Amino acid sequence: MNEHDKDIAGNLETVRRAIASAADLAGRKADEVTLVAVSKTFGADAARDAISAGQRVFGENRVQEAQGKWPDLKSEFADVELHLIGPLQSNKTREAVELFDVIETVDREKIAKTLAKEIARHVDEGGKAPRLLVQVNTGAEPQKAGVLPEETKDFVARCQSEHGLTIDGLMCIPPFDEPPGPHFALIAKMCGELGLPVISMGMSGDYEQAVMLGATHVRVGSAIFGARSKPA
Ligand SMILES: *Cc1c(COP(=O)(O)O)cnc(C)c1O
Repeated sequence: MNEHDKDIAGNLETVRRAIASAADLAGRKADEVTLVAVSKTFGADAARDAISAGQRVFGENRVQEAQGKWPDLKSEFADVELHLIGPLQSNKTREAVELFDVIETVDREKIAKTLAKEIARHVDEGGKAPRLLVQVNTGAEPQKAGVLPEETKDFVARCQSEHGLTIDGLMCIPPFDEPPGPHFALIAKMCGELGLPVISMGMSGDYEQAVMLGATHVRVGSAIFGARSKPA
């Protein structure tokens, strides 16, 4: 084991403990929260170190990068679960459906339609349909992907009624320069109202707060793998 291994295993342990204490403070059980280890920009060696430390759920934000890293690891470790947490382009939908177990970033009609087609095809070929979350642009930021909060209810309904997609929950990335709490509280409330079980929110800087506000999935990258040298 090199220095690098130790860091990832140690960091994972630290994050898991912090999740457990935040859950405990909120009167929740630690196992209600899934840690999604965000391995974007890090290589397969780092992912493998995390797998060795018992981590099984991972997030990547680019389809192409994930294709270079995960197919081999997924065939070696059948219980690895891979989440797409970055924007999905229609021309990458087929690849995304084939590789990812969860797509967290359904955010527009065109993608919903293409996903429906590609999922049907994948299932026909004996594959498993990925679980789907809708990304909500809680801060209504023009440069950010996601459905606006006031459009979310209708969008989720249309995914289901028009495209036959099952939406399991919502995810959000709060604005950089605002306290995340109100954004977390908003999607948690919306999930409650829509009867959606999955709430994906919280990153390295704020995952404990997200757990206190009801996150079922936290997406943690740099607190596990270290600072990213390349832009994500
Ligand atoms: C990169 C990324 C994360 C993880 O960010 P950290 O601050 O490194 O924990 C979480 N969610 C999304 C959507 C990301 O792109």
